Amino acid sequence: MPIPARIAQLSPQITDWRRALHRIPELGYDLPQTTAFVAEKLRAMGCDSVTMGLGRAGIVAEIIGTGGANHAIALRADMDALPITEATGAPYASQIAGQMHACGHDGHTAMLLGAAQYLCETRAFSGRAVLVFQPAEEGGAGGLAMVNDGLISRFGISEIYALHNMPGQAAGTFAINSGAMMASADFFDILITGRGGHAAKPQDAVDAVLIAAHLITALQSVTARNIDPLEAAVLSVCMIDTDSRAPNVLPQEVRLSGTARALSAPVRDALETRLRAICAGVAATFGAQIAVDYQRGYPVTVNSPDQADFAATAALAVTGQPTAPAAPMMGAEDFSYMLSAAGEHGQGGAYMFLGNGDSAMLHHPAYQFNDAIIPAGVAWFAALIEQRLPL
Ligand SMILES: [Zn+2]
Ligand SMILES: [Zn+2]
Repeated sequence: MPIPARIAQLSPQITDWRRALHRIPELGYDLPQTTAFVAEKLRAMGCDSVTMGLGRAGIVAEIIGTGGANHAIALRADMDALPITEATGAPYASQIAGQMHACGHDGHTAMLLGAAQYLCETRAFSGRAVLVFQPAEEGGAGGLAMVNDGLISRFGISEIYALHNMPGQAAGTFAINSGAMMASADFFDILITGRGGHAAKPQDAVDAVLIAAHLITALQSVTARNIDPLEAAVLSVCMIDTDSRAPNVLPQEVRLSGTARALSAPVRDALETRLRAICAGVAATFGAQIAVDYQRGYPVTVNSPDQADFAATAALAVTGQPTAPAAPMMGAEDFSYMLSAAGEHGQGGAYMFLGNGDSAMLHHPAYQFNDAIIPAGVAWFAALIEQRLPL
């Protein structure tokens, strides 16, 4: 450390891998070309085991250090892309219409492959490095699928680490917190059933549109009046639809859909409780029926304090700079499932932001992963293994 010479030497090769993956962005669990590419590289570099199909399309590789194979530290990358039409004009742009690596998961996967190459060659650690390549991070809960397939217990993982590139953060710098890094993301559908009729005879109807307007306004009182102002919470109604198709017809039904997000489990629970209570109260007030379908999505991404410190120490070794505190985000990340499973069955884990420099934001058609940050990311993965599993 800082950047080991061998990692600097490997970086052009890793950049080629990143660009090769960028050309073949695949979605969700449907990753045949991506998983074939990753598995072929892992086998060629001499990993001690390569397991396919964990969590449907996940891959797990093990590398045993020269000091024996007792403890296991896991490093995770995500492999899936997004249904976005690329607008970067890069020579290695997506060759699959309507799909793009717009979240930089091609970079994460290539950096973890680079770390695998380095660790296979050097093996200067005592224990097992477990490399986890997951499918379906973008909404498909691939991380949960791998946990449910026994990821943590099967590979005896005691700690797990991951990083995400972050546009707007100085290129190659690291940022982390102890505690919450990313929010929980839950989703709701609310069906208001009134009584439809002629728009000129509102007295004979139960106007579901007016009820929806009151309900949307009342829901904003949850974050404004029920949640501690020092806690973070989002409650957004994002879709509204009625079954009326004419301007002189009051609908029978109005459907609202949206998302609720929080950085702690108690606030997450409070959002659901208050949303349900307000729906019941508005239904009673206006004489309508309101049905709520509330689906829990990804939980809060929480770094355990010790592992956040270890992650920061590894970053310090790479950059020579103390890590900046990360600003938590209200987006969600399904690495949260692996963190909580590692906390239950092992010591815990941590999730790090790696600055991508000035670029378009994640999920934007002009977003570009910054290949200049590859050495820092690879060196951080390698440092975690060598520091957490010392010879
Ligand atoms: Zn994303
Ligand atoms: Zn992402």
